[in-house]
Amino acid sequence: MKAWEENIRRVVPYVPGEQPKKEKIIKLNTNENPYPPAPGVEEVIKQMDYAKFRLYPDPTVGDLVKAIADRYQLEEDQVFVGVGSDDVLAMAFLTFFNSKKPILFPDITYSFYDVWAQVFRIPYQVQPLDQKFQIQAEDYKKENGGVIFPNPNAPTGIAMDLDFIEKILEQNQDVVVIVDEAYIDFGGISALPLLKKYENLLVVQTFSKSRSLAGIRIGYAMGNRTLIQAMQDVKYSFNSYTMNQPSIQIGVAALEDVSYFDRTKEKIIATRERIKPALKELGFSFLDSKTNFIFASHNSYAASDIFEYLKANDIYVRYFSGNPRIQNYLRISIGTDLEMDRFIAVLKEYLK
Ligand code: PMP
Repeated sequence: MKAWEENIRRVVPYVPGEQPKKEKIIKLNTNENPYPPAPGVEEVIKQMDYAKFRLYPDPTVGDLVKAIADRYQLEEDQVFVGVGSDDVLAMAFLTFFNSKKPILFPDITYSFYDVWAQVFRIPYQVQPLDQKFQIQAEDYKKENGGVIFPNPNAPTGIAMDLDFIEKILEQNQDVVVIVDEAYIDFGGISALPLLKKYENLLVVQTFSKSRSLAGIRIGYAMGNRTLIQAMQDVKYSFNSYTMNQPSIQIGVAALEDVSYFDRTKEKIIATRERIKPALKELGFSFLDSKTNFIFASHNSYAASDIFEYLKANDIYVRYFSGNPRIQNYLRISIGTDLEMDRFIAVLKEYLK
């Protein structure tokens, strides 16, 4: 090894789900929304003045911060916006997890957490979910440098109630507790009301799932102004212009259309609930998902085989081969009714 190679920061990167180039596939592998963004987004794009792109965007992301603050009845200094919630979460790890004590998160959870911990040299300790894939609040009652978990958890899809979240907060008042609410709009209960009571709570959400804007990259954190200010300081020490001009305008337009948001979200929930009995009938077991995906395993067929068969039929779902506890599960994003009907039909062919 050359001397300079010794100083390279070595990391095992996060592996995002496949984005196949192929047209006409049924894509149920990255929890994208099957419906287009709100119609107002198209209008904004049509009216965009490209000549303005010679100017830097607003580094404060002011218009979008205000729209989010209004939507959730917060002050503007309680909102931080970033390039997808991945960017917001990475920024939060860097800002808040600076203790020598390990941060805590579940063993089965969003697989980016341990990657950020490693890249930022943050010690961490995973807490095993129980047999039913539930997070145990008692596991988070020990010395730590911070706590993070998704609610609902991913990829299990299981939601925790507010009492559970509050219990975790009560036990952890000396560290920052981050609740990653990427999927909250599909049936979970947000921890936002607890912001008034717990100044160490940071709630992170995204426009990628319930607002159909994964391709635009907008995420946001909500918390008390000291937390948000600290994140801003770290952001400005890194890159002042994280959000480009179009994404700020597109985000505002997406937030404005409440009825479109409600309609598409309800459609996804209805499709999810319709698919559950069909999956059960085919011999799948799954957890009670409150997200836009179902985490299922078949009672007699191997997940890896089903995954390959579906793929050969141009249906992409997500299979995590790494963790032995979930090796026999598939994470199936909820598509349109038509897509899910085809998915069920192809499964039927395979399992008959
Ligand atoms: N948190 C969880 C639990 C997720 O599943 C995802 C999606 N991969 C994210 C955060 C990040 O989503 P985005 O960066 O698109 O906002």
